[in-house]
Amino acid sequence: MKIFKALTTVAIAIGTVFGTLPVYGREWHPRRVVNEVYSGIQKIHGYKATPRLIWNVTRGKRGGCGPIRGSHYCTKNHTVYITSTDIRMAYQHGDAALAYIIAHEYAHAMQTAYQFRPGVGHITELQADCLAGVYLGLIPNIVLDNKDIREVASFAHRIGDYAWGSVHHHGTPKQRVKAVVHGMRGSVNGKGVSACRV
Ligand SMILES: [Zn+2]
Repeated sequence: MKIFKALTTVAIAIGTVFGTLPVYGREWHPRRVVNEVYSGIQKIHGYKATPRLIWNVTRGKRGGCGPIRGSHYCTKNHTVYITSTDIRMAYQHGDAALAYIIAHEYAHAMQTAYQFRPGVGHITELQADCLAGVYLGLIPNIVLDNKDIREVASFAHRIGDYAWGSVHHHGTPKQRVKAVVHGMRGSVNGKGVSACRV
């Protein structure tokens, strides 16, 4: 990812380092991705209803909503958790894939805080993917190049599932790619978050 302009605000993401972070050549370090995405989305929302963000957490540790199984947003303590496992998995695609995970979980925080979360299930998940796409496109200090967009799309495809009927169903690979790409388009055609209305 490329930096467009440094934000004047200081990112306040809380890093809890339990493991080692992957470092990949010319890709941004996870710490930088977390800080830029987190501060960027805060700015988009006018620094309102900002969730806490705890990243690089080990699976199995206790979070506000019980043992942490994967990256998630916990409504009970208004906190986004990003696991070290997910960071490593994201970097198999690239830094933009991590940006997408953070943006997706931040989206859940906003769905909840502003009460437009369409219940639970894949409709909510796909809306979070769409919002993540809008955020990634709108974050003022980040410019996604074509490689980044491919990273996001390939990761979205990878984490899609076919568990129809399960509460954990997040949408099929195709649906997830479509949702996040729709959001990224929404960020450039002026629709913004309204592109994600369901
Ligand atoms: Zn989700």
